[in-house]
Amino acid sequence: MHPPPAGPGFVLRSLRAGPGFVLRSLRAGPGFVLRSLRAGPATAAFIALALLGAAACSGGEPPAASSSRVQVAAAFYPLAWVAERVGGGNADVIDLTPQGAEPHDVELTSDQVVAVTQADVMFYLGGGFQPAVEELASGMGEGAVDVLGSEGVEFVGEDPHVWLDPLRMLGIVEVVAGRLAALDQGRAAAYKTKAASLTRELEALDADFRAVLGHCEQRELVTSHEAFGYLAESYGLVQVGIAGIDSAAEPSPQRLAEVARFVDEHDVATVFFERLLSPRIAQTIAEETGAATAVLDPLESRPQAGDYTAAMRLNLVALEEGLGCR
Ligand SMILES: [Zn+2]
Repeated sequence: MHPPPAGPGFVLRSLRAGPGFVLRSLRAGPGFVLRSLRAGPATAAFIALALLGAAACSGGEPPAASSSRVQVAAAFYPLAWVAERVGGGNADVIDLTPQGAEPHDVELTSDQVVAVTQADVMFYLGGGFQPAVEELASGMGEGAVDVLGSEGVEFVGEDPHVWLDPLRMLGIVEVVAGRLAALDQGRAAAYKTKAASLTRELEALDADFRAVLGHCEQRELVTSHEAFGYLAESYGLVQVGIAGIDSAAEPSPQRLAEVARFVDEHDVATVFFERLLSPRIAQTIAEETGAATAVLDPLESRPQAGDYTAAMRLNLVALEEGLGCR
């Protein structure tokens, strides 16, 4: 496995050192430009050396024997999970969104940039969801794979949360498996088998969501941020988000009042919130209206325990109780 060529012509621009070090523009070969990169603890010299190293290495040295596993970078947890499952023991996967971090507008550290330049492939979700990742991807050519546009994976409006619908994940599984098989043809059959097994797991998850959510007293899904639009659409629910699609956005007092009125008028029993975000806004509405609160995991970073399927099953239990499904 070999890093993609960074090419000659490496230029470092607008570099500010010292505390709060920010790398504004980095050119490493034709078309490869990085802007607004928060560099973290690594020094600029280190990044420069790493990228130059990758460039030098592209001259045709044979790959090291130790790197027989495919090196994969994934922009955030759901993509990392698919790569881990399909890659099995044949891929090393790094997740660019740390556990507990927000993937919307994630910033990359210098170490992560180096790791991505040395990976065989990076999987990401485009469409403006993670601009720093897209900027990095724009200089990687074939080495970066945008899962947006794979079968069933299209945004409705600007909503990026496609991974919260198990069936939309199937297109991502196919794209990841196809690329791993192309990179590592000797193990193509293994990737295909693992992708088929993951597909069955996601189809079973979808069937359970369909069965449980088909019989609920309430169809109004009031959530702290609008992450569950695709899930709601797939299973016949109506999402009412307190904050918008971008979880960083704070709702206005007017919006809080509107949602509280909605909760009252529709006798909504449960207001859902997320662990990553402050539960305050959901609690405010719950207190005002007498509704209960419950947690939904938007799976935007690695769950505290278990994996995607386990977290989705916990979500289903929370929905079943909160919406009165029986
Ligand atoms: Zn989100």
